[in-house]
Amino acid sequence: MKTILAIICHRHSPILTNMLIKAPALPARVFGVSAGVTAPLEILASYPEASVQTSRISQNRKTHYSSTQELHSSGPLECLPGRRFQRTPNNRTYILERRSKPRCQNSNLSQAKTSESIMLANPSTKYQRFVGVSLPDRQWPNHHIEKPPIWMSTDLRDGNQALIDPMSVQTKLRMFKELVAIGFKEIEIGFPSASEIDYNFTRMLIEENLIPDDVTIEVLVQARYDLIEKTVQSLRGARRAILHMYNPLAPAFRKIVYNTDKEGVKKIALQGTQWCKELTAQAPEVDWTFQYSPEVFSSTEIEFVKEVCDAVVEIWNPSPQKKIILNLPATVEMNTPNTYADQIEWIHRNIHRRDSIVISVHPHNDRGTAVAAAELAVMAGADRVEGCLFGNGERTGNVDLVTLALNLYSQGVHPGLDFSDIDKVRKLHEECTQLPVHPRHPYAGELVFTAFSGSHQDAIKKGFAVQKKDTLWEVPYLPIDPADLNRSYDAVVRVNAQSGKGGVSFLLQQEAGLQLPRRLQIEFSSVVQKVSDSTGKEVKASDIARIFNEEYFAVNSPITYQSSKFTEQDDTHQVDIVIHAQHQNKTVEISGSGNGPIDAAAHAISQFIDTEVNVIDYHEHSVGEGSDVVAVTYVEIKVKNGKPVYGVGQDRNIITSAVKALINGVNRSGAVS
Ligand SMILES: [Zn+2]
Repeated sequence: MKTILAIICHRHSPILTNMLIKAPALPARVFGVSAGVTAPLEILASYPEASVQTSRISQNRKTHYSSTQELHSSGPLECLPGRRFQRTPNNRTYILERRSKPRCQNSNLSQAKTSESIMLANPSTKYQRFVGVSLPDRQWPNHHIEKPPIWMSTDLRDGNQALIDPMSVQTKLRMFKELVAIGFKEIEIGFPSASEIDYNFTRMLIEENLIPDDVTIEVLVQARYDLIEKTVQSLRGARRAILHMYNPLAPAFRKIVYNTDKEGVKKIALQGTQWCKELTAQAPEVDWTFQYSPEVFSSTEIEFVKEVCDAVVEIWNPSPQKKIILNLPATVEMNTPNTYADQIEWIHRNIHRRDSIVISVHPHNDRGTAVAAAELAVMAGADRVEGCLFGNGERTGNVDLVTLALNLYSQGVHPGLDFSDIDKVRKLHEECTQLPVHPRHPYAGELVFTAFSGSHQDAIKKGFAVQKKDTLWEVPYLPIDPADLNRSYDAVVRVNAQSGKGGVSFLLQQEAGLQLPRRLQIEFSSVVQKVSDSTGKEVKASDIARIFNEEYFAVNSPITYQSSKFTEQDDTHQVDIVIHAQHQNKTVEISGSGNGPIDAAAHAISQFIDTEVNVIDYHEHSVGEGSDVVAVTYVEIKVKNGKPVYGVGQDRNIITSAVKALINGVNRSGAVS
């Protein structure tokens, strides 16, 4: 019988999502393991090629966790490319569809030939250069950015809309609090007229008084009476709010989507603004700001944008004290960033009542130049930038606010946003969006403060040696001091000539089957380097496995793991854990709870050692075959404010393996005696 294998250990668990996205090859077996994961089970059930057993195994937790071993006994999953999940509009059912053709039977050679001939020899027959506005006396190239723009985070709206699994109310709240902590004063929280979750989230923020005094929430709405009415309703009782209305003006929309002309779309904009004005007047307890977005500004005739925007401004009737926001989105990035800057400068110079207007930009990253477009737009007169952390958002994403902010910082301008613990922000973002941040992402990627090349390492080492505290930063190859983001610089050491491109980690994988996460590779390579330096000899693969054992697996004190037990609440999915261990020659019971086994174990250990333990990173894989299969888990933790440290655990049970890894990390951190 055909079945799919999946293990579902916790709602929104990264492991789960990862596995579902890389839908397993058939045939395999499925276990739905928790009561709280009906949606993923629906995905599997709707997969037409498989007969899926969606029986719930969870009620009895013993079965629940022992069933996790099935994962290992059936071996690693094979991933097939080209499958994705799609969410249907009712937000409940998921469809797993196969996008690409089945695996090609032909040889690689013939595949390569086909793909070679797919791209057009003359792409100008299909694509034309985008012609922007003519602005021969442009001023923006002479400007510098001397202060940060007004930042607006649309992580909870634009970013959220583009997620495979949009955020729940609780996840939204988690991210909202993080955005506030970073320092955002304007946060677009959703699309209340289009999403029940967004409506409820808006109400919750207002009714539970969760919006700080200096933070203004913003919501999006289309130019339709009923939707505006519902949106205004969702904001009743708020101290302040930005009502953000948009309508498409661009030629392609007029022609293809709406079958109307310029007058038609202009009428929609003006009518919508009028409705917003009337309906917000009925909620006078809210201090309203109006934001208008002419959709796909970047591809609309600029004079027409100005005509509509001028008319919208007249209706709203702002003042220099009470401005209107005109947001000019590069909904799709059309050309080099200077063309966008020209468009922004043209508007900045030609729009009526400029002193009553906040010009906002909203660049997307289709050409990979959204950051440049935003920076040039600010030089061209924009006052405000909308975007998302780490560039999340539709397709290639919105402009990345982390990069923008830290680019400013690296030029000596404080961005007004605080990324003092960039790893924490990255981890939270990855958990909330279920999307990884690229290892080479500016400032935040795990490899961006790592040097691989010997000549770079040498220059950096010399740079650090002469760099004095409280003087201008001059270390070569590092645009900013990693310490400012609570990170550190690492050099990856290659052990010997034979170790090939992966160095230490390559040898370790060959020898012991261990696949170290990147940052652990870095941590461990310095351990090996020390051994190599002290013995003066070449380190062999067998030595590397032994050193790894001594450095990680063999560390089992001060806390020595003995056993652990989990229970999960059916309704809240809270997990409670009890760990039995040896500590200072006594048997101790360590207990705690959390929103998953690892979270619960981290809380339990934090309480036991009376110091906060934060899990920054988590990786797991299996080693061995058949009945010898074990799970190996790597957790990167930060104990209080110490340096991040890895712990490694292995066990036949995947969760036990994770708990052992956590305890290993705490033991290795030196934070407990
Ligand atoms: Zn957008």
